[in-house]
Amino acid sequence: MMQDKHYLMIPGPTPVPPAVTAAMSMPIIGHRTDAFAKIHERIVEKLKLVFQTKNDIFVLTNTGTGALETAIANTVSPGDKVLSLITGNFGERFANIAKAYNAEVIEVNFGYGNDVDLAVVEKKLAEHPDVKVVLATQNETSTGVCNDIEGIGALVAETPALLLVDGVSGVGAIEIKVDQWGVDMLCTASQKAFMLPPGLAMVSVSDKAWEVSKNNKSPRFYFSLPAFKKVYDKWNTAYTPAVSLFYGLEASLDMMLAEGLDNVYARHALLAKATRAGVRALGLKLLAEDRCASNALTGVWGPEGIGADDLRKIIKNEYGVTFAGGQGAVKGKGFRIAHMGFCDRMDVIIAISALEMALAKAGYEFQLGAGVKAAQEVLLGR
Ligand SMILES: *Cc1c(COP(=O)(O)O)cnc(C)c1O
Repeated sequence: MMQDKHYLMIPGPTPVPPAVTAAMSMPIIGHRTDAFAKIHERIVEKLKLVFQTKNDIFVLTNTGTGALETAIANTVSPGDKVLSLITGNFGERFANIAKAYNAEVIEVNFGYGNDVDLAVVEKKLAEHPDVKVVLATQNETSTGVCNDIEGIGALVAETPALLLVDGVSGVGAIEIKVDQWGVDMLCTASQKAFMLPPGLAMVSVSDKAWEVSKNNKSPRFYFSLPAFKKVYDKWNTAYTPAVSLFYGLEASLDMMLAEGLDNVYARHALLAKATRAGVRALGLKLLAEDRCASNALTGVWGPEGIGADDLRKIIKNEYGVTFAGGQGAVKGKGFRIAHMGFCDRMDVIIAISALEMALAKAGYEFQLGAGVKAAQEVLLGR
Protein backbone atom coordinates (compact mmCIF):
# COMPACT_ATOMS: atom_id res chain seq x y z
CA MET A 1 0.00 0.00 0.00
CA MET A 2 1.20 3.47 -0.81
CA GLN A 3 2.84 5.42 1.99
CA ASP A 4 0.75 8.18 3.63
CA LYS A 5 -2.39 7.43 1.62
CA HIS A 6 -4.86 7.13 4.45
CA TYR A 7 -8.55 7.79 4.88
CA LEU A 8 -9.35 8.39 8.53
CA MET A 9 -13.04 7.64 9.04
CA ILE A 10 -13.26 7.28 12.80
CA PRO A 11 -15.43 9.45 15.06
CA GLY A 12 -12.50 11.43 16.36
CA PRO A 13 -9.91 12.50 15.84
CA THR A 14 -11.07 13.38 12.34
CA PRO A 15 -9.14 14.72 9.32
CA VAL A 16 -7.95 18.32 9.52
CA PRO A 17 -8.41 20.61 6.48
CA PRO A 18 -5.28 22.25 5.00
CA ALA A 19 -6.54 25.76 5.88
CA VAL A 20 -6.80 24.74 9.53
CA THR A 21 -3.35 23.10 9.54
CA ALA A 22 -1.89 26.24 7.95
CA ALA A 23 -3.53 28.51 10.55
CA MET A 24 -2.06 26.42 13.35
CA SER A 25 1.46 26.91 12.01
CA MET A 26 1.37 30.65 12.72
CA PRO A 27 3.99 31.85 15.25
CA ILE A 28 2.86 31.45 18.85
CA ILE A 29 1.87 34.62 20.69
CA GLY A 30 1.64 35.25 24.42
CA HIS A 31 -1.79 34.53 25.84
CA ARG A 32 -1.84 37.65 28.06
CA THR A 33 -1.84 39.94 25.03
CA ASP A 34 -4.39 42.03 23.17
CA ALA A 35 -3.78 39.93 20.08
CA PHE A 36 -4.84 36.77 21.90
CA ALA A 37 -7.81 38.51 23.52
CA LYS A 38 -9.03 39.54 20.06
CA ILE A 39 -8.78 36.00 18.66
CA HIS A 40 -10.52 34.64 21.77
CA GLU A 41 -13.37 37.15 21.45
CA ARG A 42 -13.88 36.42 17.74
CA ILE A 43 -13.89 32.67 18.35
CA VAL A 44 -16.53 32.92 21.06
CA GLU A 45 -18.73 35.15 18.87
CA LYS A 46 -18.54 32.57 16.06
CA LEU A 47 -19.10 29.66 18.42
CA LYS A 48 -22.28 31.33 19.66
CA LEU A 49 -23.66 31.00 16.14
CA VAL A 50 -22.95 27.25 16.13
CA PHE A 51 -24.36 26.76 19.64
CA GLN A 52 -27.27 29.16 18.90
CA THR A 53 -26.84 30.81 22.27
CA LYS A 54 -26.27 34.09 24.03
CA ASN A 55 -24.65 32.23 26.94
CA ASP A 56 -20.97 32.41 27.85
CA ILE A 57 -18.88 29.80 26.04
CA PHE A 58 -15.59 28.69 27.55
CA VAL A 59 -12.89 27.36 25.25
CA LEU A 60 -10.85 25.12 27.52
CA THR A 61 -7.56 23.36 26.91
CA ASN A 62 -8.93 19.92 27.45
CA THR A 63 -10.72 17.01 25.78
CA GLY A 64 -14.38 16.09 25.49
CA THR A 65 -14.23 14.17 28.74
CA GLY A 66 -12.70 17.25 30.35
CA ALA A 67 -15.68 19.25 29.09
CA LEU A 68 -18.05 16.72 30.69
CA GLU A 69 -16.11 16.80 33.96
CA THR A 70 -16.16 20.61 33.88
CA ALA A 71 -19.95 20.52 33.61
CA ILE A 72 -20.33 18.05 36.49
CA ALA A 73 -17.70 19.62 38.79
CA ASN A 74 -19.46 22.97 38.59
CA THR A 75 -23.08 21.88 38.97
CA VAL A 76 -23.18 18.63 40.96
CA SER A 77 -22.61 18.62 44.71
CA PRO A 78 -22.04 15.41 46.68
CA GLY A 79 -25.34 13.65 47.32
CA ASP A 80 -27.21 15.48 44.56
CA LYS A 81 -29.71 13.43 42.60
CA VAL A 82 -28.67 13.15 38.95
CA LEU A 83 -30.82 11.58 36.24
CA SER A 84 -28.60 10.03 33.61
CA LEU A 85 -30.09 9.18 30.20
CA ILE A 86 -27.85 6.48 28.73
CA THR A 87 -27.87 5.25 25.13
CA GLY A 88 -24.33 3.84 24.98
CA ASN A 89 -20.75 4.14 26.20
CA PHE A 90 -20.59 7.91 26.31
CA GLY A 91 -23.81 8.18 28.29
CA GLU A 92 -22.27 5.69 30.71
CA ARG A 93 -19.13 7.80 30.95
CA PHE A 94 -21.16 10.92 31.77
CA ALA A 95 -22.94 8.98 34.56
CA ASN A 96 -19.60 7.66 35.85
CA ILE A 97 -18.21 11.19 36.14
CA ALA A 98 -21.25 12.17 38.23
CA LYS A 99 -20.62 9.09 40.41
CA ALA A 100 -16.98 10.10 40.82
CA TYR A 101 -18.32 13.38 42.24
CA ASN A 102 -20.44 11.37 44.69
CA ALA A 103 -23.79 12.17 43.14
CA GLU A 104 -26.75 9.84 43.66
CA VAL A 105 -27.07 8.79 40.04
CA ILE A 106 -30.32 7.38 38.65
CA GLU A 107 -29.24 5.58 35.51
CA VAL A 108 -31.80 4.98 32.80
CA ASN A 109 -30.35 2.77 30.11
CA PHE A 110 -32.24 2.67 26.83
CA GLY A 111 -30.02 -0.05 25.36
CA TYR A 112 -27.53 -0.16 22.51
CA GLY A 113 -28.89 1.21 19.26
CA ASN A 114 -31.92 2.84 20.89
CA ASP A 115 -32.52 6.51 21.52
CA VAL A 116 -33.93 8.17 24.63
CA ASP A 117 -37.65 7.46 25.07
CA LEU A 118 -39.26 10.75 26.13
CA ALA A 119 -42.17 9.00 27.88
CA VAL A 120 -39.67 7.28 30.19
CA VAL A 121 -37.92 10.59 30.89
CA GLU A 122 -41.24 12.20 31.79
CA LYS A 123 -42.04 9.32 34.15
CA LYS A 124 -38.61 9.40 35.83
CA LEU A 125 -38.78 13.16 36.36
CA ALA A 126 -42.22 12.79 37.94
CA GLU A 127 -40.95 9.98 40.21
CA HIS A 128 -37.94 12.04 41.30
CA PRO A 129 -39.01 15.68 41.63
CA ASP A 130 -35.77 16.35 43.57
CA VAL A 131 -33.50 15.65 40.58
CA LYS A 132 -30.95 18.47 40.39
CA VAL A 133 -29.25 17.65 37.11
CA VAL A 134 -30.18 15.68 33.97
CA LEU A 135 -27.42 14.25 31.76
CA ALA A 136 -28.05 13.56 28.08
CA THR A 137 -26.00 12.74 25.00
CA GLN A 138 -26.81 14.58 21.77
CA ASN A 139 -25.04 12.11 19.51
CA GLU A 140 -24.14 8.72 21.02
CA THR A 141 -20.87 7.95 19.26
CA SER A 142 -20.67 4.32 20.39
CA THR A 143 -23.79 3.40 18.42
CA GLY A 144 -24.49 6.21 15.95
CA VAL A 145 -27.75 7.25 17.58
CA CYS A 146 -28.96 10.84 17.77
CA ASN A 147 -31.17 11.82 20.70
CA ASP A 148 -34.02 14.32 20.75
CA ILE A 149 -32.45 17.10 22.81
CA GLU A 150 -35.31 19.45 22.01
CA GLY A 151 -37.81 16.95 23.46
CA ILE A 152 -35.66 16.23 26.51
CA GLY A 153 -35.14 19.98 27.03
CA ALA A 154 -38.89 20.62 27.00
CA LEU A 155 -39.42 18.02 29.75
CA VAL A 156 -36.54 19.22 31.91
CA ALA A 157 -37.75 22.83 31.55
CA GLU A 158 -40.89 21.81 33.51
CA THR A 159 -38.65 20.99 36.50
CA PRO A 160 -36.03 22.92 38.51
CA ALA A 161 -33.26 20.62 37.17
CA LEU A 162 -30.36 21.65 34.97
CA LEU A 163 -29.85 19.95 31.60
CA LEU A 164 -26.23 19.08 30.75
CA VAL A 165 -25.64 17.80 27.22
CA ASP A 166 -22.70 15.85 25.83
CA GLY A 167 -22.46 17.21 22.29
CA VAL A 168 -18.87 16.11 21.73
CA SER A 169 -19.50 14.29 18.45
CA GLY A 170 -22.66 16.14 17.47
CA VAL A 171 -22.04 19.87 17.64
CA GLY A 172 -20.92 21.16 14.24
CA ALA A 173 -22.47 18.20 12.41
CA ILE A 174 -26.02 18.19 13.79
CA GLU A 175 -27.95 21.33 14.64
CA ILE A 176 -28.50 22.18 18.29
CA LYS A 177 -30.31 25.22 19.68
CA VAL A 178 -28.94 25.80 23.17
CA ASP A 179 -31.18 28.70 24.19
CA GLN A 180 -34.40 27.60 22.52
CA TRP A 181 -34.11 24.00 23.69
CA GLY A 182 -33.10 24.86 27.28
CA VAL A 183 -29.62 23.33 27.35
CA ASP A 184 -27.92 24.67 30.49
CA MET A 185 -24.48 23.37 29.60
CA LEU A 186 -23.44 22.13 26.18
CA CYS A 187 -20.12 20.31 26.06
CA THR A 188 -18.11 19.66 22.93
CA ALA A 189 -14.52 19.22 21.78
CA SER A 190 -12.23 20.14 18.91
CA GLN A 191 -11.39 16.79 17.31
CA LYS A 192 -14.75 15.69 15.89
CA ALA A 193 -17.04 17.82 13.72
CA PHE A 194 -14.90 20.91 14.39
CA MET A 195 -12.15 19.47 12.16
CA LEU A 196 -9.29 20.21 14.56
CA PRO A 197 -6.70 18.06 16.31
CA PRO A 198 -7.60 17.02 19.86
CA GLY A 199 -6.93 19.50 22.65
CA LEU A 200 -9.79 21.97 23.02
CA ALA A 201 -13.09 21.63 24.84
CA MET A 202 -15.98 24.06 24.57
CA VAL A 203 -18.65 24.50 27.21
CA SER A 204 -21.59 26.91 27.30
CA VAL A 205 -23.09 27.98 30.62
CA SER A 206 -26.62 29.31 31.16
CA ASP A 207 -27.51 31.85 33.88
CA LYS A 208 -29.27 29.08 35.76
CA ALA A 209 -26.13 26.92 35.65
CA TRP A 210 -24.04 29.88 36.86
CA GLU A 211 -26.24 30.27 39.91
CA VAL A 212 -25.76 26.61 40.82
CA SER A 213 -22.04 26.78 40.07
CA LYS A 214 -21.41 29.62 42.53
CA ASN A 215 -22.47 27.56 45.55
CA ASN A 216 -21.43 24.16 44.31
CA LYS A 217 -19.73 22.01 46.94
CA SER A 218 -17.63 19.72 44.75
CA PRO A 219 -13.87 20.17 44.91
CA ARG A 220 -12.57 21.77 41.72
CA PHE A 221 -9.48 23.61 40.62
CA TYR A 222 -8.47 23.22 36.96
CA PHE A 223 -12.12 22.55 36.15
CA SER A 224 -13.42 25.53 38.13
CA LEU A 225 -15.50 27.73 35.85
CA PRO A 226 -15.62 30.67 38.27
CA ALA A 227 -11.81 30.86 37.82
CA PHE A 228 -12.30 31.19 34.07
CA LYS A 229 -15.21 33.57 34.47
CA LYS A 230 -13.05 36.00 36.46
CA VAL A 231 -10.97 36.77 33.36
CA TYR A 232 -13.50 35.85 30.64
CA ASP A 233 -14.84 39.39 30.26
CA LYS A 234 -11.31 40.53 29.35
CA TRP A 235 -11.06 37.61 26.90
CA ASN A 236 -8.35 36.09 28.99
CA THR A 237 -8.06 32.47 30.18
CA ALA A 238 -7.27 31.25 33.71
CA TYR A 239 -4.30 29.13 32.58
CA THR A 240 -2.19 28.86 29.44
CA PRO A 241 -4.49 27.98 26.53
CA ALA A 242 -3.47 25.84 23.54
CA VAL A 243 -2.79 28.97 21.47
CA SER A 244 -2.18 27.16 18.17
CA LEU A 245 -5.47 25.31 18.47
CA PHE A 246 -7.24 28.63 18.96
CA TYR A 247 -5.83 29.75 15.59
CA GLY A 248 -7.06 26.50 14.11
CA LEU A 249 -10.49 26.83 15.70
CA GLU A 250 -10.99 30.25 14.17
CA ALA A 251 -10.03 28.85 10.74
CA SER A 252 -12.42 25.91 11.08
CA LEU A 253 -15.26 28.15 12.27
CA ASP A 254 -14.60 30.42 9.28
CA MET A 255 -14.88 27.41 6.97
CA MET A 256 -18.15 26.32 8.57
CA LEU A 257 -19.66 29.81 8.45
CA ALA A 258 -18.53 30.34 4.83
CA GLU A 259 -20.25 27.10 3.82
CA GLY A 260 -23.26 28.18 5.86
CA LEU A 261 -24.31 26.23 8.95
CA ASP A 262 -27.50 25.02 7.29
CA ASN A 263 -25.41 23.66 4.43
CA VAL A 264 -22.99 22.03 6.85
CA TYR A 265 -25.89 20.21 8.54
CA ALA A 266 -27.45 19.29 5.19
CA ARG A 267 -24.11 17.89 3.99
CA HIS A 268 -23.85 15.66 7.06
CA ALA A 269 -27.44 14.49 6.56
CA LEU A 270 -26.74 13.62 2.92
CA LEU A 271 -23.53 11.73 3.74
CA ALA A 272 -25.35 9.75 6.43
CA LYS A 273 -28.19 8.91 4.06
CA ALA A 274 -25.78 7.76 1.34
CA THR A 275 -23.74 5.67 3.79
CA ARG A 276 -26.84 3.98 5.15
CA ALA A 277 -28.14 3.25 1.68
CA GLY A 278 -24.77 1.78 0.68
CA VAL A 279 -24.56 -0.45 3.74
CA ARG A 280 -28.14 -1.65 3.33
CA ALA A 281 -27.62 -2.49 -0.33
CA LEU A 282 -24.83 -4.86 0.74
CA GLY A 283 -27.26 -6.73 2.95
CA LEU A 284 -25.63 -5.56 6.17
CA LYS A 285 -27.65 -4.42 9.17
CA LEU A 286 -27.49 -0.92 10.62
CA LEU A 287 -27.16 -0.38 14.36
CA ALA A 288 -29.67 2.45 14.56
CA GLU A 289 -33.14 2.78 13.11
CA ASP A 290 -33.61 5.55 10.54
CA ARG A 291 -35.76 7.48 13.01
CA CYS A 292 -32.83 8.16 15.35
CA ALA A 293 -29.81 7.52 13.11
CA SER A 294 -26.91 9.90 13.53
CA ASN A 295 -25.84 12.21 10.73
CA ALA A 296 -22.29 12.21 12.08
CA LEU A 297 -21.47 8.50 11.96
CA THR A 298 -23.04 5.20 10.98
CA GLY A 299 -22.92 2.06 13.12
CA VAL A 300 -23.02 -1.24 11.22
CA TRP A 301 -23.38 -4.87 12.35
CA GLY A 302 -20.73 -7.08 10.77
CA PRO A 303 -21.86 -9.89 8.44
CA GLU A 304 -22.70 -13.32 9.90
CA GLY A 305 -19.67 -15.54 10.18
CA ILE A 306 -17.08 -12.84 9.42
CA GLY A 307 -15.42 -11.09 12.35
CA ALA A 308 -16.07 -7.37 12.24
CA ASP A 309 -12.56 -6.65 13.51
CA ASP A 310 -11.03 -8.95 10.85
CA LEU A 311 -13.00 -7.06 8.23
CA ARG A 312 -11.76 -3.73 9.58
CA LYS A 313 -8.20 -5.05 9.44
CA ILE A 314 -8.55 -5.81 5.71
CA ILE A 315 -10.13 -2.39 5.10
CA LYS A 316 -7.24 -0.68 6.86
CA ASN A 317 -4.30 -2.80 5.77
CA GLU A 318 -5.31 -3.34 2.15
CA TYR A 319 -7.06 -0.07 1.34
CA GLY A 320 -5.83 2.47 3.90
CA VAL A 321 -9.31 3.25 5.17
CA THR A 322 -9.83 3.30 8.93
CA PHE A 323 -13.23 2.59 10.44
CA ALA A 324 -13.82 2.48 14.20
CA GLY A 325 -14.59 -0.76 16.00
CA GLY A 326 -17.77 -1.56 17.86
CA GLN A 327 -18.01 -0.48 21.48
CA GLY A 328 -19.74 -2.04 24.47
CA ALA A 329 -22.36 -4.57 23.37
CA VAL A 330 -21.18 -4.21 19.77
CA LYS A 331 -17.47 -4.84 20.48
CA GLY A 332 -16.08 -7.26 17.89
CA LYS A 333 -19.48 -7.53 16.22
CA GLY A 334 -19.77 -4.25 14.42
CA PHE A 335 -17.94 -1.20 13.18
CA ARG A 336 -18.57 2.50 12.81
CA ILE A 337 -18.02 4.69 9.77
CA ALA A 338 -17.60 8.37 10.63
CA HIS A 339 -18.70 11.00 8.13
CA MET A 340 -18.28 14.11 10.22
CA GLY A 341 -16.28 17.29 9.87
CA PHE A 342 -13.92 17.51 6.89
CA CYS A 343 -15.83 14.90 4.93
CA ASP A 344 -17.66 15.10 1.62
CA ARG A 345 -19.45 12.93 -0.92
CA MET A 346 -16.45 11.13 -2.36
CA ASP A 347 -15.34 10.09 1.12
CA VAL A 348 -18.54 8.07 1.41
CA ILE A 349 -17.86 6.43 -1.95
CA ILE A 350 -14.36 5.49 -0.76
CA ALA A 351 -15.76 4.09 2.48
CA ILE A 352 -18.42 1.94 0.83
CA SER A 353 -16.08 0.85 -1.94
CA ALA A 354 -13.40 -0.25 0.57
CA LEU A 355 -16.05 -2.07 2.57
CA GLU A 356 -17.17 -3.93 -0.55
CA MET A 357 -13.65 -4.95 -1.52
CA ALA A 358 -12.93 -6.23 1.98
CA LEU A 359 -16.24 -8.13 2.04
CA ALA A 360 -15.35 -9.71 -1.30
CA LYS A 361 -11.92 -10.76 0.04
CA ALA A 362 -13.54 -12.20 3.16
CA GLY A 363 -15.81 -14.37 1.02
CA TYR A 364 -19.08 -12.60 1.74
CA GLU A 365 -21.61 -13.12 -1.02
CA PHE A 366 -23.11 -10.03 -2.58
CA GLN A 367 -23.16 -8.16 -5.85
CA LEU A 368 -19.94 -6.16 -6.16
CA GLY A 369 -20.76 -2.48 -6.70
CA ALA A 370 -24.24 -2.66 -5.23
CA GLY A 371 -23.35 -0.54 -2.19
CA VAL A 372 -21.48 2.07 -4.18
CA LYS A 373 -24.34 2.31 -6.64
CA ALA A 374 -26.90 2.80 -3.87
CA ALA A 375 -24.74 5.54 -2.31
CA GLN A 376 -24.28 7.19 -5.71
CA GLU A 377 -28.05 7.20 -6.26
CA VAL A 378 -28.53 9.07 -2.99
CA LEU A 379 -25.74 11.52 -3.80
CA LEU A 380 -27.30 12.14 -7.22
CA GLY A 381 -30.58 12.91 -5.51
CA ARG A 382 -32.42 10.03 -7.15
C1 LIG B 1 -15.37 11.48 21.75
C2 LIG B 1 -16.47 11.63 22.71
C3 LIG B 1 -16.23 11.91 24.06
C4 LIG B 1 -14.86 11.92 24.67
O1 LIG B 1 -14.04 12.90 24.23
P1 LIG B 1 -12.48 12.86 24.54
O2 LIG B 1 -12.01 14.04 23.78
O3 LIG B 1 -11.95 11.56 24.06
O4 LIG B 1 -12.28 13.04 26.01
C5 LIG B 1 -17.31 12.11 24.88
N1 LIG B 1 -18.57 12.03 24.40
C6 LIG B 1 -18.83 11.75 23.13
C7 LIG B 1 -20.25 11.66 22.67
C8 LIG B 1 -17.78 11.53 22.24
O5 LIG B 1 -18.05 11.24 20.97
